[in-house]
Amino acid sequence: MNSRKNDIVESVRRIQQTIPPEVMLQAAAKTRTLDDVETVIQAGVTHIGYNYVQEALPIIQAIGNRATWHMIGHLQRNKARIVVQHFDMIETVDSWKLAQTLELHCKSLQKTMPILIEINSGREANKTGVLPEGVEELVHQLSTLEYLQLVGLMTMGPRFGNPEDSRPYFKTTRAIFERLAVMNLPNVSMRYLSMGMSNSYQIAIEEGANIIRIGTKLFGERQ
Ligand SMILES: *Cc1c(COP(=O)(O)O)cnc(C)c1O
Repeated sequence: MNSRKNDIVESVRRIQQTIPPEVMLQAAAKTRTLDDVETVIQAGVTHIGYNYVQEALPIIQAIGNRATWHMIGHLQRNKARIVVQHFDMIETVDSWKLAQTLELHCKSLQKTMPILIEINSGREANKTGVLPEGVEELVHQLSTLEYLQLVGLMTMGPRFGNPEDSRPYFKTTRAIFERLAVMNLPNVSMRYLSMGMSNSYQIAIEEGANIIRIGTKLFGERQ
């Protein structure tokens, strides 16, 4: 095995050792090569996240159902059909309009799609995601759909040098998650809380995350 492969395999092992077994380690694979993605899969990481459909397609075509594919980037409605065709979970649903478009494509392809709502927990003007006060309305709307199944929440939160600064945003998202969990709406089950990246995943897990999305810590710095 070459040294790049060794490094990636070692990183997977190190992270897996420091997280509880029920937490899903997802590789955030933007900018990485097919070889790198193959390596994390061989090392046991079978959930792969992509931000852009065009970048993901050749990788998904090569690897297929040896991995589970998560859409974690902002999704435009004109890409909805191709995403429904090729991905297994969409973590970035943030509007009723987008949800309705996804529902139509799921129906025509006869495919049920697990989704997460992306929360703009930092209330950042330049970021996508639903503001905390808008979540409940969207959840009620989503619960009426037949093919989309809301299974949890995702957040990025602002980027900080000090990961401890992320904690309030993870807490905010967790509180929404707990509130929705007891509402018992049809088609809604709060199973996944996707938050935390390379520098913040330990804090995110302390605050209840059970999906962490890791790029840099697995593959090294992006070029
Ligand atoms: C890039 C990315 C990550 C991983 O970021 P790292 O800091 O490299 O671990 C996680 N989530 C999303 C949505 C991303 O775009």
